[in-house]
Amino acid sequence: MAKFVLIGSGLAGGLLAAYLGRRGHDVDLYERRADPREGNIVGGRSINLAISTRGIHALEQIGIAEEALEHAIPMRGRMIHEKSGALHLSPYDVDPKKCINSIGRAALNTTVIEAAQRYPNVRVHFNHKCSGVDLESAAAHLETSKGPVSARGDAVIGVDGAFSAVRKSMQHDIANFQYDESYLAHGYKELTIPPGSHGSWRMEKNALHIWPRKSFMMIALPNPDCSFTCTLFWEFEGPCSFATTKTDDDVQRFFEEEFPDAVPLMPTLLDDFRNNPTGSLVTIRCAPWSYRDKVCLVGDAAHAVVPFYGQGMNAAFEDCVVLDQCLEKFPQNRERALAEYFHRRKENADALADLAIGNFIEMRDKTASKTFRAKKKLDHALEAALPGIYLPLYTMVTFTRMPYAAAAKRARVQDSWVYASLFALAAISVGAILWFLAN
Ligand SMILES: Cc1cc2nc3c(=O)[nH]c(=O)nc-3n(C[C@H](O)[C@H](O)[C@H](O)COP(=O)(O)OP(=O)(O)OC[C@H]3O[C@@H](n4cnc5c(N)ncnc54)[C@H](O)[C@@H]3O)c2cc1C
Repeated sequence: MAKFVLIGSGLAGGLLAAYLGRRGHDVDLYERRADPREGNIVGGRSINLAISTRGIHALEQIGIAEEALEHAIPMRGRMIHEKSGALHLSPYDVDPKKCINSIGRAALNTTVIEAAQRYPNVRVHFNHKCSGVDLESAAAHLETSKGPVSARGDAVIGVDGAFSAVRKSMQHDIANFQYDESYLAHGYKELTIPPGSHGSWRMEKNALHIWPRKSFMMIALPNPDCSFTCTLFWEFEGPCSFATTKTDDDVQRFFEEEFPDAVPLMPTLLDDFRNNPTGSLVTIRCAPWSYRDKVCLVGDAAHAVVPFYGQGMNAAFEDCVVLDQCLEKFPQNRERALAEYFHRRKENADALADLAIGNFIEMRDKTASKTFRAKKKLDHALEAALPGIYLPLYTMVTFTRMPYAAAAKRARVQDSWVYASLFALAAISVGAILWFLAN
């Protein structure tokens, strides 16, 4: 059995440690933060996330799905909030049982770490910040309060998120390492809708709420304590942006103008806006994800995506499943296992990155339009009429484990058939009318 050094005990790090521990490997997991169970809130990141089929499957494989989902809240569709206060629910699928689930990041992080720690061969070390990796010797350099230490394994796996220190070492030491990062012009800020009196819900509980406003939007996901975490996605710069909205009056005016139905539900709006950080939204693509049998990247470290498909964590969890399968397939040849993992995941991560950016435009701009709602209805009608033949893109991404690239390709083919059929139908109708008029 091999000895793995894992860097980062975020969502994927904890889960991967559990998978490797189950295989009997020796695992040391190093995390720069303090133990989240000591009340160390994951600062600056989404408080809750949407978990769906891929993420749930990865948890099921290690036997912790039920435990993780105990407090999750199913969301059956998007609740669109118009400026007028009108609400429209757009179900995610024709089958009302298919839903995505709002889950707390901190609780999920704790669940995966505890799952890993159930294996005696897994050890978790908090307050250890990786400053770099020596690729040839599979040794990680770590900073601790007592000074620098090194951890050597047969392999180091970087599960240390979008700004991965492990990836930086690969970038530095591997000739022709490909790296691309691109930031959206939009940032995000989290705000709160607290519970109503006596712990009641102040909006529909089983929905993901969206206030689409063309170039920007706000969303809200429910929490188990009956509160909602709202996230405003807005331009950093520009005439109406984070940069120009400085005073409390500016903020109040902007919210009353754009989100009038939400303002009465947000008593801490001004404090939240002032005190909560403004996060950036980055897409990271790189290649390769491994170096010989020594180093590998998993999750956001390999492929950070913008959050608009609610798939970043789901994809990171799926990475863990695939890496585990590859290690099982080539037990005596880790280099081949890591190469196969990269081969199976890379085009899918790239496809997801594109889908996620596309969904931003759909959520902020199109969800409010009648045409979009009609297209969703058509999607669901076709899905019901042609079961197993026609699957909407959202359904394939969210409610199946079909590889992301295959889902994107199939959606393009389906769309061309639908448009061709609609065009043919229109042509036949016009032809019939002309024939009728001529006779
Ligand atoms: C606003 C927002 C909303 C999102 N919503 C969703 C959603 O609804 N659904 C979804 O599936 N995904 C969502 N995501 C994406 C999701 O958060 C990420 O894809 C997921 O957290 C990736 O997991 P990870 O373990 O790879 O990285 P992370 O969760 O970032 O974990 C990395 C860990 O490594 C540690 N670390 C970093 N550097 C070092 C170092 N040098 N040394 C030691 N440790 C280190 C960090 O402290 C952290 O614990 C969202 C992201 C954002 C920003």
